[in-house]
Amino acid sequence: MVQQRQFRTLCVSLIALALAACEPTDNRLVRQEISGSTMGTGYSIGLVTNPGFVTEDLDHAIAERLIDLESSLSTYLPDSDLSRFNASNSTDWFMVSADLCAAVAHSVRLSEHTNGAFDITVGRLVELWGFGPGDIGEKMPEAHQISLLRDSSGFEKLSVDCTRPAIRKTDARVHIDLSAYAKGLAVDEISLLIREYGISSYLVEIGGEISAAGHSESGKSWRIAIESPHDFTRGIQLIVDASDLSIATSGNYRNFYVRDGNRFSHTIDPKTGKPVTHNLASVTVAAADAAYADALATALMVMGLNPGLEFANRHSLAALFLRFEGENVAESMTDEFRAMIVD
Ligand code: FAD
Repeated sequence: MVQQRQFRTLCVSLIALALAACEPTDNRLVRQEISGSTMGTGYSIGLVTNPGFVTEDLDHAIAERLIDLESSLSTYLPDSDLSRFNASNSTDWFMVSADLCAAVAHSVRLSEHTNGAFDITVGRLVELWGFGPGDIGEKMPEAHQISLLRDSSGFEKLSVDCTRPAIRKTDARVHIDLSAYAKGLAVDEISLLIREYGISSYLVEIGGEISAAGHSESGKSWRIAIESPHDFTRGIQLIVDASDLSIATSGNYRNFYVRDGNRFSHTIDPKTGKPVTHNLASVTVAAADAAYADALATALMVMGLNPGLEFANRHSLAALFLRFEGENVAESMTDEFRAMIVD
C-alpha cells in the first residue's frame, strides 16, 4: 500500500512568485514576503509595497486571523467550534462562532448549487476511508458501514441561523468536514485583511489555494503555474495570467493510497459514499473568490470529466480538467480557462 499524504506544497505559488520575480524590478515598489504554517499546511504571501512599509503588524494580524479560523473550522483540533459541534449528539440549535456559521451557510448553498457533489457532511465517510484526522483504515470499509454513514450524511440535515449565530443538525450523527472549503475561505479572509492595510497588489497562497490581486512589483500581471498531476515528481502543466483571480485545485495525486492495484483518494462522492473512481487526476477552478473556487474544484472532481465540463460550461466557470491517457496528461478546459493561458 503506497501512502501519499503530502499536500500540494508551495510549488505552485513559488513558481508563481519566481515567474513574477523574473521580470525587471521597478525600484519604486518592492515585494515583501510573509510565510508560516496553518491548517496542517503552509502559507506564503507576497505583498507589493513601498520600500518603507513595515510588515510586522500585518504579519501578526495574519497569524492571529489564521489561528482564529482554525479554532473555529478545524476537525484536527478537538476543542474547535466544529469539533465540539461534531461531538455533540444534540439536534437542538448549537451556538458557534460567526466564522463557522458563515462557512456552513455558504457550504450548504454550494451543495445546492452543485446538486450535492460538494457536501461538507461527508466527514465520517472521509474518515471511514482513512483520510482526515484519523489514521488510514487498515482494511476496506464494509458495504454496511458505507450505507450507515451515507444515511447519516447529507447537507439537507443542516440548518443555520447566523443571526444568533447557531447551527443545527437534524440527525445527531451528522459530522461536518470543511477541508474542501476552509483553506479557500482563509485565502479570502487574509486578502481582505491585506486590503484593510491599504495594499492592493498581493499574492496569497494557503496549501495550494491562491488569490492574486493587482500586479507584481514590476507592474506585470501575476502568472500562476498549474502543477502537472504526477504523483512523485513536480512539474508545470501550464501557466495562466491570474491577476485579480483566485485559483484552487483538487486532485487525487497527493492525498491517496493504492490498495490491491486500485487508487483511493480523499475525494468522496456523497452519492456512493466512496472515493471517486473516474480517471480525472485534478480539477483547477479560477473564480473571483477562493472559497468558491476551492469548493467547486472538489465538486467538479466528484462529478468527473463530462458532467463536470457540462456543469462548468453551463455556469461559465473557468475550469481545467487534467487526466492521464497512458503516460500523457490530457487537458480539457472551458473557454473561460483557455482565455487565461499565457502562450
Ligand atoms: P481538497 O481537494 O480541497 O478537498 C478534499 C478534502 O475535502 C478531503 O480531504 C475531504 O476532507 C473533503 N472532501 C472529500 N470529498 C468531499 C466532498 N464531496 N464534498 C466536500 N468535502 C469533501 N491537516 C493536517 O494534517 N493537520 C492539521 O492540523 C490540519 N488542520 C486543518 C485545519 C483546518 C481548518 C482545515 C480546513 C484543514 C486542516 N487540515 C489539517 C487538512 C488539510 O489542510 C487539507 O485541508 C486536506 O488535506 C485537504 O486538502 P486539499 O486541498 O488537498 O483538499
